[in-house]
Amino acid sequence: MTDLFTVVNPATEQPVVDVPLTDLAGTDAAIAAAHEAFQRWRAVAPGERAALLRRFAAVVDAHVDELAELEVRNAGHTWGNARWEAGNVRDCLNYYSGAPERMFGKQIPVPGGTDLTFYEPLGVVGVIVPWNFPMPIAGWGFAPALAAGNTVVLKPAEITPLTALRIGELALEAGLPEHVLTVLPGKGSVVGERFVTHELVRKVVFTGSTEVGKRVMAGCAEQVKAVTLELGGKSANIVFADADLAAAAASAPYAVFDNAGQDCCARSRILVERSAYDEFMAGFEKAVSALRVLDPSDESSEMGPLVSAGQRASVQGYLDEVDVTFAGSRPDGAGYWIAPSVVTVDDPAERIWREEVFGPVVAVMPFDDEADAVARANDSDYGLSGSIYTSDLGRGLRVARAVEAGNLSVNSHSSVRYWTPFGGYKESGLGRELGPDAPLAFTEEKNVFIAH
Ligand code: NAD
Repeated sequence: MTDLFTVVNPATEQPVVDVPLTDLAGTDAAIAAAHEAFQRWRAVAPGERAALLRRFAAVVDAHVDELAELEVRNAGHTWGNARWEAGNVRDCLNYYSGAPERMFGKQIPVPGGTDLTFYEPLGVVGVIVPWNFPMPIAGWGFAPALAAGNTVVLKPAEITPLTALRIGELALEAGLPEHVLTVLPGKGSVVGERFVTHELVRKVVFTGSTEVGKRVMAGCAEQVKAVTLELGGKSANIVFADADLAAAAASAPYAVFDNAGQDCCARSRILVERSAYDEFMAGFEKAVSALRVLDPSDESSEMGPLVSAGQRASVQGYLDEVDVTFAGSRPDGAGYWIAPSVVTVDDPAERIWREEVFGPVVAVMPFDDEADAVARANDSDYGLSGSIYTSDLGRGLRVARAVEAGNLSVNSHSSVRYWTPFGGYKESGLGRELGPDAPLAFTEEKNVFIAH
């Protein structure tokens, strides 16, 4: 008998639907079918593969509201976020539909003949997705992988499978051949681990915790299997005294409390130049108390609940260790709620300053000068993203270059744009997703020499 997992609405704690969990035999069968489909998919003419991806994008576009509604119920995302997330899947498919017809190799001048390079697809790619952004993270894996001629098996997080399952159906509706994109809801210890150990899976794209990511990387080493890791973060938002402080304070809540702080790019540390500290904190407190923390079925909600009782307990564990300096609101009653919370920190050894809380909690610390700000920002095992607020563009660029992280923004908190590369330094990850080169990360570069 197939085991079932009951998906729960985190805003109401009510069951939504039971989803079957794929077992080992089911995973093996899906990988074998994806391997068989690979030979046919790679042979589809580039223009036709591009057209199929554009059709897939159009079908997703026609279902943005349906997908968003599923995510509001399954993951407690706000409507604004959930619509953006479904739109991001469409946009990635459209963007990478340009790739099949542009996978240019090189002709390299050599003596005695002609030398050519080709980008060959890898085969079956396994994409392992966490629960925090189920739709975009799935799309960042499957869209460029499919464009490069690979087939994909995709495992959503156990607790948030609904949008991935629907996207798998939409792929078939758009005309993608069977087994080109297969969604396998299930446990990490079963389906995810099988992607790592199965010899026909030639690359694993993993997004999730640093702890599991290290295990996935070690497992892939057994078969010298390609792996991309997008892991945790503890990103810094650095506010200089010469910044537009009102704007910096007004935007700071959205940089860390978006998706209830369950965002690998969350600016969960704020560094404020000492001379501007009081003014910034006054504006920040006003902005935090104005944040609309509501059931996400209310379209005006800006922050929803935590995704699960377990995640709420984990975040509460951090809050129990500290004094909260100020906090926003949260609804009473059912739901996995935590109010957006601000903690001031003196000692950089504190757990709340070093560890990824993955909830609506931010730690704030003053700094003395530019060098001090950079040193404090870099004093972390992580290096995913970060922000710099300043009116001095030279300083903005200088500090952006000095911070050891993959995605920096000056006078903005954005990290993710499908046009630009995304990924982490240090324990935040390995490899890059998105941007113009993403399809190449799903290929082997082959060199062919022809003697004259
Ligand atoms: P997690 O590591 O527990 O799980 C992530 C995925 O891996 C899930 O699908 C899970 O089922 C699967 N998994 C679990 N054990 C596995 C195993 N042994 N082998 C293979 N797969 C396995 O993380 P989570 O709790 O789902 O997500 C939260 C974490 O993800 C946070 O630490 C966050 O920072 C990180 N994250 C990082 C990024 C990024 O792009 N850097 C994006 C989103 C989330």
